[in-house]
Amino acid sequence: MNREKGTNLLGLELDELTTIVEAQGEPRYRARQLFEGLYNQRYNSFGEFSTLPHSLHDNLTKAGFHVHQPVAEKKFVSVDGTVRYLLALVDGQTVETVWMPEGDGGESGEDTEPSSQVTSGKIRLARGTICLSSQVGCAVDCEFCLTALLGLKRNLSAGEMIGQVCAVLKDQGVSPPLDRVNLVFMGMGEPFLNYDNFVKAVRLLGAGVGIPPTRMTVSTAGVVPRISDLGREPIRPRLAISLNASNDQLRTRLMPINKKWNLDQLMAAAREYPLRPKERLTFEYVLLDEVNDSAENARQVVELVRGIRAKVNLIALNPGPGIDFKTPRPERVTAFQKILIDAQIPTFVRRPRGRDIYAACGQLKRTVELLRPSL
Ligand code: SAH
Repeated sequence: MNREKGTNLLGLELDELTTIVEAQGEPRYRARQLFEGLYNQRYNSFGEFSTLPHSLHDNLTKAGFHVHQPVAEKKFVSVDGTVRYLLALVDGQTVETVWMPEGDGGESGEDTEPSSQVTSGKIRLARGTICLSSQVGCAVDCEFCLTALLGLKRNLSAGEMIGQVCAVLKDQGVSPPLDRVNLVFMGMGEPFLNYDNFVKAVRLLGAGVGIPPTRMTVSTAGVVPRISDLGREPIRPRLAISLNASNDQLRTRLMPINKKWNLDQLMAAAREYPLRPKERLTFEYVLLDEVNDSAENARQVVELVRGIRAKVNLIALNPGPGIDFKTPRPERVTAFQKILIDAQIPTFVRRPRGRDIYAACGQLKRTVELLRPSL
């Protein structure tokens, strides 16, 4: 069967599954069984759905439906426990997905919880964060990001985003909601340039896989209209905004998206964003040595962020081939952080995860591409 031409049931909502089973002359409760199997049990083939009659498997297959999660083509394990997966999609394209065990160095935006593994009686509950991709490649072209070098290949479907999570959970033997899993939409791609699929994935990952949206964070390079749209979603993750520069001139140089939506527009959207009780916005700021990491830059960030219920995550540049910036020394990072903290802005330095395997922020790039020059 040609899977590319058929329809993957993974990524469909309950009402869509209901329409499909009814068209097969089956009762509606079969859709609920499919839904449970796809998202809760995370089955990866019709054969695993033991509650469904064989005739239904056959009929669905004949009608062009299949169940398919991305396949791990390569797996890299970092000395710090981070695991980077290269996952193959039905059309042969690949994306990268990262598993960060036990805490996440701040990506989830939850700094109030202990980061140690929870032990309750005999059950050892796992904790970790999955960083997933929303597109194959990226169109945004930030100067310091390796993924940008790929360009945009295509959007991912909701099923392909959910499938990354299912594949990693299965490989790690981790099962929410018992095991506590955070999700960050901070892998390859700009989630807000694939908005509808991203929102659908959030709904299904919540209702089906069992990861509460409050444990999810989406990061945007600053697609301003979608920031307002997200504020109106009934079910939505936390929001992080990649600021990365303290004035328009600098931001336009580092992130060409600033030509389309400048800092005035971006910060206005951030100010108007309807935060829930106890929720804070996150601003991410990649520190590039002698480029955007001066005391003056820090003071400008204070002015930008003032009055917003927000925290700032500082990320010292993760280097990579083809990236023309340097990582600042720790003293510069600390000095920058101190200026923000002194201005009462909660500011954290994000611990780099999996740098040795190119799994850290801004390092995700299809491994095949990365290896090409040396092949
Ligand atoms: N496109 C979205 C989602 C990607 S999140 C966004 O831009 O927000 C990836 C985060 O890593 C962003 O905050 C980005 O600014 C940061 N980043 C990109 N390249 C980096 C690098 N080389 N070192 C450290 N952080 C980087």
